[in-house]
Amino acid sequence: MISESEALQRVLAAVSPLELQTMPLAQALDAFAGCDMIATVPIPGFDQSSMDGYALRAADAMLERLPVQGEQPAGRDLGLVCEPGTCLRIFTGAALPRGADAVIMQEDVKRDGEGIRCLETVEKGENVRRAGADVCAGQIIVKRGERLTPARLGLLASQGLTEVQTVQKPRVAVLSTGDELVPPGGGPLAPGQIYNSNAIMLASLLRCLGITEVTTEHCMDDLEVTTRCLQHLTTSHDAVILSGGVSVGDHDQVKPALKQLGIEPDLWRVKVKPGKPFLFAKGPQSFVFGLPGNPVSSFVTFSLFVRPALLRLMGASEAEIEPLMLPMPLAATMRNDGDRPHYIRGRLVKGRFESSGMQQSHALHALARADALLRLEAGETIEAGACGTVWRLD
Ligand code: AMP
Ligand code: MG
Repeated sequence: MISESEALQRVLAAVSPLELQTMPLAQALDAFAGCDMIATVPIPGFDQSSMDGYALRAADAMLERLPVQGEQPAGRDLGLVCEPGTCLRIFTGAALPRGADAVIMQEDVKRDGEGIRCLETVEKGENVRRAGADVCAGQIIVKRGERLTPARLGLLASQGLTEVQTVQKPRVAVLSTGDELVPPGGGPLAPGQIYNSNAIMLASLLRCLGITEVTTEHCMDDLEVTTRCLQHLTTSHDAVILSGGVSVGDHDQVKPALKQLGIEPDLWRVKVKPGKPFLFAKGPQSFVFGLPGNPVSSFVTFSLFVRPALLRLMGASEAEIEPLMLPMPLAATMRNDGDRPHYIRGRLVKGRFESSGMQQSHALHALARADALLRLEAGETIEAGACGTVWRLD
């Protein structure tokens, strides 16, 4: 059995980003930038007012009365000039008239007819957004490998762009194995049957990564059927995520089926709890991730190994792949008597981590109540109040 870190290294070493593609910004959410994006225009594009008020020379705010000599709206530059001892009505986002060096907020003046009196002093540059203060032309605004978040897409649009180069997203298949599985909605359960909960959970984890092309299929614990399913899925998808059938039971057909297809596992069985039977193979056209069938084991091994591999496939930078691990004090003493690192399902309550319930690998309810995983090293005890390393799940 290999360690968790060695397993992750082996998985990541086998994976490199998919091809680049150009896509409309409107479809690029959650893809990763395929190249550095460089600003071609400064933001703001011109000196402008950040308030509704009056453009003036800051020093003139001391004067008894400033005549209002015109009005500069947003949207078109009227080319007005602010003469000494006068002011111009101005609105948020409007070009700062030549001669003016500040804007006084309308709340800070008393207007009478065609003039104003300033009730406050203003400093040079106050309420003025300078051209290029946010973004200079030539500056990198989105780096290769960064996720295209709503704000980053907005930033690209502020440059007038309609398209962006991204790394393609993988087509992923989720294959649930098990004679006992019934699809939700598939009628009442016969004794011994269970509803398939991993399919929707894994497909949803994929959606959280921004992967949209997801196929879900189910196959029985039969070598021929499993082989046929895998043959089809590994030639039509970039990655296949199996749930169940990777242990050593007589009905676990994943390894024999891969063998039939000539796909040799790169790794099988990892020192981690839950999730020991995790399997990874690189087929000729597709990556194969074999996750244990127990729902919590599926979830944890997805988070530990599948997520980083798929992110790398999508062109994510190291920083984007790195999980958000934080030191967090524990509400109660926790002990790992086992010889594998243990990921405990729990919640952050008032800044402390506490167990969210049963910790067995089938206990989906406690996972559903969890918003964090605590990593406990083999043999480790952490006392109440001391800090453990916690992985935020949002
Ligand atoms: P396996 O890894 O196939 O030995 O399955 C381990 C446990 O997980 C068994 O109790 C299975 O019934 C359960 N299991 C397997 N697949 C699923 C699934 N898709 N949804 C919920 N539980 C499952
Ligand atoms: Mg099974």
